[in-house]
Amino acid sequence: MEKIIIPSRLQMLIGGEWVDANNKDSLSVINPANAQEITTVPLAAKEDIDIAVDSAQQAFENDTLTPAERGQLLHKVADLLERDKEYLMHLESLDNGKPFDKAAYDVDSCIHHFRYYAGWTTKIHGDQIPVSSPNKLVYTRKEPLGVVGLIVPWNFPLMMSVWKVAPALACGNTCILKPAEQTPLTALHLGKLIMEAGFPKGYFNVVTGTGAITGEAITRHQKVAKISFTGSTDVGKKIMVAAAESNLKKVSLELGGKSPNIVFDDADIDQVIESVVWSSFYNSGQECTLGSRLYIHEKVYDQVLKGLIDKTSQLSIGKGIDSPDLGPLISETQMNRVLNYIELGKKEAKLEFGGHRLEGDLKEGYFVSPTIFSHQNDDLKIVQEEIFGPVVVVSSFKDEEEIIQRANHSIFGLAAALWTKDVSKAHRVAHQIQSGTVWINGYDMFDPSVPFGGYKQSGNGREMGKSAIDLYTQEKAVWLSL
Ligand code: NAD
Repeated sequence: MEKIIIPSRLQMLIGGEWVDANNKDSLSVINPANAQEITTVPLAAKEDIDIAVDSAQQAFENDTLTPAERGQLLHKVADLLERDKEYLMHLESLDNGKPFDKAAYDVDSCIHHFRYYAGWTTKIHGDQIPVSSPNKLVYTRKEPLGVVGLIVPWNFPLMMSVWKVAPALACGNTCILKPAEQTPLTALHLGKLIMEAGFPKGYFNVVTGTGAITGEAITRHQKVAKISFTGSTDVGKKIMVAAAESNLKKVSLELGGKSPNIVFDDADIDQVIESVVWSSFYNSGQECTLGSRLYIHEKVYDQVLKGLIDKTSQLSIGKGIDSPDLGPLISETQMNRVLNYIELGKKEAKLEFGGHRLEGDLKEGYFVSPTIFSHQNDDLKIVQEEIFGPVVVVSSFKDEEEIIQRANHSIFGLAAALWTKDVSKAHRVAHQIQSGTVWINGYDMFDPSVPFGGYKQSGNGREMGKSAIDLYTQEKAVWLSL
C-alpha cells in the first residue's frame, strides 16, 4: 500500500461535527517504533464531555430507527470497514506499533463483530411470563440504557472499541467512545465510518484525551447511564468508585490477566511448541489473555522449554509497518515498566532468554526482546503481577491436583489453556480453573458469538455473544390486570 498521509492535527467527533477541545488543549500521538510525533488530537475536558453527552442524550430521545434499520446501518459500517481495511491496518500499525500483517486479523474481527450484532438488532426481545395470580398479563421488554460511555485501552485499539460499539449500537444506545490517549487514530476513523453509514448526528461520539481528565469526566457524568471499560484492574477499581459517587451508573469491566497455560505430559508437544511462542509473546506480550504463566509437566519440561527458547530466538522484531513477528511496546512508560519487571526477574528467578532493550536500528523505538524466566515459586512478583510485555514465566509441575491449585493462585481469572490428549482430564481440569475462558489444545480462540470476560479481579460482565446484549439493555416488567 502507498504511504498514508495523516494531517498534523486531528479533531474529535461530537454531535456529528469534527471539533477541537473547547480550551484548544491537545495531545501528541507518538509512533512507538521511532518515538516521533504522528499528529495531535484534542484533549477533551469536562465542558467538551458535557456537550458530547447532551448531544448523545438528544439523539437517544429523538431516536426513530427501527431495529431492522439499525441492523442495516451496522451492516453498512461493516462494509465500510471492509473498504478501508488496509488504511485501518496502516493506522493501527503506525499508532500502536502492531505488525501490519497482523493488524488484518484485528480489522477482520471488527467486521465480523459488526455483522454479528447487525443480526441481533431484530432479535432483542423480552418474554411473556405465566404468573400464578389469575387474570394477569405480564411481559418483559429489553430496553436500551441511554448514553453509554465506552473507555478502551491501547493494545487492540480498534478491536476493543468495536467489541463495545457494535453491541451498544445494536441495542439502541447512543455512545461516547474514548480511545486510549496513546492510540486514538482508528477510533476517530471508526467515527467517520459510522457517520458515513448514516447513523444520525450525536448517536456516536469519539472524544480524545487522557484518563484523568477525559475519562474521569465521562465516568462521573450524571447523564451517562453506563460505563463499559476495558483496561487495567487499578483503573477499573477507580471507575467503580466514580460510578458509585456520581449517579450509580452501571459498570462492566474487562480487566487485567495473568493466564496459566498448562502443558500435561500427554499433550501433542510439537503442537504445544508451535503455539506457545505466540501465546507468550503475541502483540509483544501486550494482550490481556496471553499465557504469561506457563506450567509444563516435569516429564516434558526440558523438551518444551528448549522448543520455546528455539522458536523465540527465531522471532523477527521490528517496526510494525514492516510486518515483523513482534513490534515495539506502546510507549516509553510501558517499556520502562516492563524493563523494571525484567530487572526484578533477574534477581528473583532464572533468566532463560532475552531480558534487555533492543539497540542498533531499533534504538529510537520502544523495543524489548522477548524474555523467558524459569522459577519454582508462585509468590514471586513476576509470577503474580501483570507485566503486559513480552515476558513469560515458566515452571514445572508434577500432577493434576497441584496444577489446579497453582493455576488458581492468582488475583486474576481472565483466561487459561490446557494441553492434553485425555478428554476426561481436559474437561475435569477446565471445570476447576477459575477463569472466564478455558482453551483446550489451542490458544486465543475467539468468536463474536462466544462470551468473554473475567473471574475475580479480571472484571465483571461478559462481552460478545448474547451476553453483551444484557450488558447494553435493561429489563422492564409490564403487568396488566385483565
Ligand atoms: P489503563 O487502565 O491505564 O487505561 C485504559 C483506558 O482507561 C484508557 O482509555 C485510559 O485513558 C482510561 N483511563 C485511565 N484512567 C482513567 C480514569 N481514572 N477514569 C476513566 N478512564 C481512565 O489501561 P491500559 O494501560 O490502556 O491497557 C492495559 C490494560 O488493559 C492491561 O491491564 C490489560 O490487561 C487490560 N486489558 C484487558 C482486556 C480484557 O478484555 N480483559 C483487554 C485489553 C486490555
